[in-house]
Amino acid sequence: MSPETTPAHLVERMRPHSRTIFGDMSALATRLGAVNLGQGFPDEDGPQVLKDAAIGAIRDGHGNQYPPAHGLPELRQSIAQHQRRFYGLELDWQTDVVVTTGASEAIAAALLALVEPGDEVVLFDPYFDLYPADVAMAGATWVTVPLAGPDLRPDLGALAAAITPRTRLLILNSPHNPTGIVFTRAELAEVARVAIENDLLVLADEAYEHLWFDDFRHVPIATYPGMWERTVTIGSGGKSFSFTGWKVGWATGPRHLIDAVKVVRQHLSFVSSGPFQWAISSGLQLPDSYFDDFRRDLQSRRDMLSLGLRNLGMRVPLTQGTYFVSADVTALGFASGAQFCDWIPENAGVVAIPMSALSDHHDADGFVRWAFCKRTETLREGLDRLAEALPRR
Ligand SMILES: *Cc1c(COP(=O)(O)O)cnc(C)c1O
Repeated sequence: MSPETTPAHLVERMRPHSRTIFGDMSALATRLGAVNLGQGFPDEDGPQVLKDAAIGAIRDGHGNQYPPAHGLPELRQSIAQHQRRFYGLELDWQTDVVVTTGASEAIAAALLALVEPGDEVVLFDPYFDLYPADVAMAGATWVTVPLAGPDLRPDLGALAAAITPRTRLLILNSPHNPTGIVFTRAELAEVARVAIENDLLVLADEAYEHLWFDDFRHVPIATYPGMWERTVTIGSGGKSFSFTGWKVGWATGPRHLIDAVKVVRQHLSFVSSGPFQWAISSGLQLPDSYFDDFRRDLQSRRDMLSLGLRNLGMRVPLTQGTYFVSADVTALGFASGAQFCDWIPENAGVVAIPMSALSDHHDADGFVRWAFCKRTETLREGLDRLAEALPRR
């Protein structure tokens, strides 16, 4: 981020967060007419029944005026039922659930509510770029733990070593954006052990809870012994139903944590979009077949993009979840993912995200993040353009 593009009046603590790589890369893609495999939004909408539910809610007056502060009762009940149906978690919808303006607001509200200025927050690196920005807003600092090695697995020795007396909270995102890994049961158990041993709170960002592939099933860390009482779990209607523009999310957890999140959240957006809450509530009640089909469909796109990138000579670890494939491009002769991502927009007409833009420690600098939540024609076009531009192997 060059100094001249930082707004002059921006407060010091937000200066490192002036721009996002996703915004920059999408603007570049638009300017060049490039295929955008950078930003992770689906280019096909979610189920028609949800659109009909949203339209019906507006027509019939469900949520057109300020909905209840912590979310429509119908949606909070659906969220509680969803947590029981998929994970066996028993929630009281009145005390253990708060609806937010997307998972994004849930993350911000939780950090602002639970972390004091000067506290330390531990996060895995590479990371979703909202986390450091929200930690900075809270006046806290972040400490990163690498996802490292050829398959970008969590360095659990580094996790234990990252904890200090000032550590207050740990952010766990699984399925993980940007790498596409799903934490294994053993990794989750170790994260839980460290959290309990050090009396940490855990912010479990489960925006991709329904996007796991093969048998890399997502398991909420809140289901581990001793974890429910210290964990705020976050979900995203945008990610689970392919309506990222609707911005309906939620936080669930024990009353003593959710009460705190509610206090901050009501002073952020006050309430969140009513008719879309109504529609997402009906989405959460869809039969298992919706979630199975959704996963299968995205898995086939994962396979198509991964195979295509491998055929171009990249090393592509198996994506276990999310919208994203991570590919090591150093085998192609590029020095880093950043160099590759600088080169392809002009030379191939394709945009992707360098992992280094989402990293402090730079173990994953050889990697590039590609989004496969796109039409198969878009994926095909991107791969064809890359094949055309990259040196023949
Ligand atoms: C997209 C995303 C979010 C934000 O979700 P919204 O519901 O769109 O606010 C949060 N966390 C991760 C890891 C994401 O990828």
